[in-house]
Amino acid sequence: MSVLEIKDLHATVETPEGDTKEILKGVNLTIKSGETHAIMGPNGSGKSTLAYAVAGHPKYEITQGEVLLDGEDVLEMSVDERAKAGLFLAMQYPVEVPGVTVSNFLRTAKTAVDGEAPKLRTWVKDVKGAMDQLRMDPKFAERNVNEGFSGGEKKRHEILQMELLKPKMAILDETDSGLDVDALRVVSEGINRVKENEGLGVMLITHYTRILRYVKPDFVHVFVNGRVAEQGGPELAARLEEEGYDRFLTAANA
Ligand code: ADP
Ligand code: MG
Ligand code: MG
Repeated sequence: MSVLEIKDLHATVETPEGDTKEILKGVNLTIKSGETHAIMGPNGSGKSTLAYAVAGHPKYEITQGEVLLDGEDVLEMSVDERAKAGLFLAMQYPVEVPGVTVSNFLRTAKTAVDGEAPKLRTWVKDVKGAMDQLRMDPKFAERNVNEGFSGGEKKRHEILQMELLKPKMAILDETDSGLDVDALRVVSEGINRVKENEGLGVMLITHYTRILRYVKPDFVHVFVNGRVAEQGGPELAARLEEEGYDRFLTAANA
C-alpha cells in the first residue's frame, strides 16, 4: 500500500520575458494504491505544471508545500530517484531520444528503476507480451524512441513503459489526446491492467471525459487557476461534460 501526498504545493515558472509567474497556487491531493484520480480542468489551468512539478522538471520552481511518497520527500529526490521510488510520469509532449531504440530504452529504464538488469529470458518474454497486449508491431521495438512516432504510438509506448516498469504511482498527462477510439481503448485497457495487477495509483490528467468511460475514476478533481476548485466522485465528470468549466472560471476570477 502506497500513498502520494501533495500538500499546499506552490510552483512558479520563469516566463520568456524573464518574469516569475506563480502557476500552482496551493495544490492538495492524496492518492492511494489502487485509486484513480481524474484531474480535469480548462486549458492553461496548470494541470501539466502539476505533473512537471512532481516529476522534477527543472523549469518549475517549488516555492511552497510538500510532495511525499510513503512519507519520503519527493522534492528532495533527483528525477532518477523519483522513478526508483516508484513514480511514473508520462508527459504530454514526450521527447525524442535520438539513436536509442525502444528495446534498449526500456531495458535501460528497467535496470535503472530496479537497480539491476532484468533477466534476459523473462524480460524478452515480458516485453513481447506487453507489446502484444497493446497491439504493437514487434518491429516497433527496433525503432528510435519517439522518432517519427504518431500520437497513438507515443501513447502506446508510454503505457508499454508503465506495464514493464511496474510503478506504484503514475501521473498520466493527457494520455487520451490525439487518440482515435480504438487506440484509446487499447491504451485504457493497458492502464486498467496495471491498476489490477500492480495496485497502481493513478493521477489521470485530462481535458475531456472521454477516457473516463474506459478508465473509471474513483475521484474527480476540478482544477482551475492553479488549484483544486472542487472534488467529487465519478458523477462530477458527467456534470462537467454537461456544464463545462464556466461556473468554476467565473468563481476563480471573482
Ligand atoms: P494546462 O496543462 O492545464 O493546460 P499548463 O500547466 O500547461 O496548463 O499551463 C498553466 C499556465 O502556466 C499557462 O498560463 C501557461 O501559459 C503557463 N506556463 C506553463 N509553463 C510555462 C513556461 N515554461 N513559461 C511560461 N508560462 C508557462
Ligand atoms: Mg494545455
Ligand atoms: Mg496540459
